Amino acid sequence: MSTQEPTRTIAYICPECRQSVIVERSLFSLAAAPAKIPCPCGKSALGVEFLADRVKLDVPCLFCGTAHKVTCSSTAFVREKTLAFSCAASGLDCCYVGEEGPVFAATARLEQTVDKLERDAGQDNVFLDEIVMHEVLSELKDIASRGGVSCACGSKQWSFQVNYSSVDLMCAECGAEMRLPAATADDIDDICCKNTILIRGKSKE
Ligand SMILES: [Zn+2]
Ligand SMILES: [Zn+2]
Ligand SMILES: [Zn+2]
Repeated sequence: MSTQEPTRTIAYICPECRQSVIVERSLFSLAAAPAKIPCPCGKSALGVEFLADRVKLDVPCLFCGTAHKVTCSSTAFVREKTLAFSCAASGLDCCYVGEEGPVFAATARLEQTVDKLERDAGQDNVFLDEIVMHEVLSELKDIASRGGVSCACGSKQWSFQVNYSSVDLMCAECGAEMRLPAATADDIDDICCKNTILIRGKSKE
């Protein structure tokens, strides 16, 4: 990449593996077509799309486990030293766009905040909300004990993984995955009104 070519540095923290993803992309390539900026772990990606006079970002969020759709003016996206986008649920930053130096510095500060939040919680494997996670897991257990969890492929063999603010269900037959959010009281309501859970796979993302 030529040093003359205007670039933007874009950063987020991967909700899956918790590492910072910081990449430099030429403005030309970003403006040319919608881009996906994947984490090296392959489990999350940030979307960038230039619209008429705005830029739309789709940011996987470490703090609440959802993806935030945020926009800013194209002018700000192209010119600002650092643009910060924050998570509506936690108020913490979830994405930076700008010049390389300031974006690296902001991301390093955010990593420290994440470390501090985890230390404050006093344990390694911390959930965004202990009560919500507990409720979602116990509902899942109820549904599972009735044989209510199955996959669209027909399998009833599955496993699950507990994350910071969600639970992933994985079909043991076809590998399809489904995410149950476990971040807010609404997520408890959502799973409480389900009798069965059907793992449909990733295709609808
Ligand atoms: Zn990752
Ligand atoms: Zn968020
Ligand atoms: Zn399956």
